[in-house]
Amino acid sequence: MGGSQNNTNKILDVLKYHGTIDDIRDRTLKEKQMITKNKEITVAMCRVCGTNIELLVDPLDFEAWQEGKYIQDAMPYLSAGERELLISGTCDDCWGKMFGESC
Ligand SMILES: [Zn+2]
Repeated sequence: MGGSQNNTNKILDVLKYHGTIDDIRDRTLKEKQMITKNKEITVAMCRVCGTNIELLVDPLDFEAWQEGKYIQDAMPYLSAGERELLISGTCDDCWGKMFGESC
């Protein structure tokens, strides 16, 4: 359950047995870069008001979510509103407007 670190070890293990030396070097370097880079700015657009909202997301976490992990487990550092934007493409403001709660 150690998250991405465990995953990397697994990948490195697999590469040790399959693929050429060059292949391994090239791919492990890429894996390392992805991990050390960590969170990247991702822009998600609200499809209702068209606002572009910047989110700081680790691409590996994003991938995990795409592969079926619960978004709250994959990206616990996002706020509920940010997660909603990724799931439904609706920003916090529009979400509030659509579902009642007038201020
Ligand atoms: Zn909006």
